[in-house]
Amino acid sequence: MLIRGCPNMNHSHLSAPVRFCSLCGGIVNQNIHIRRCDKEKHDKSRLQRTKYCVDCGEQLVMGR
Ligand SMILES: [Zn+2]
Ligand SMILES: [Zn+2]
Repeated sequence: MLIRGCPNMNHSHLSAPVRFCSLCGGIVNQNIHIRRCDKEKHDKSRLQRTKYCVDCGEQLVMGR
């Protein structure tokens, strides 16, 4: 699914390696199953300034 206005290249890949977009939280590849995440993983992603978890779609960084 393509989300207008999102600059993440994953949206233009048919076989993106992740289910969710880290920028907008939209689904980029429905064929990838949602993974269960733990807090540690989310903390690591947050340190890398990932706004949305690419595995479960949860918003990690609040605000803009
Ligand atoms: Zn996106
Ligand atoms: Zn997650």
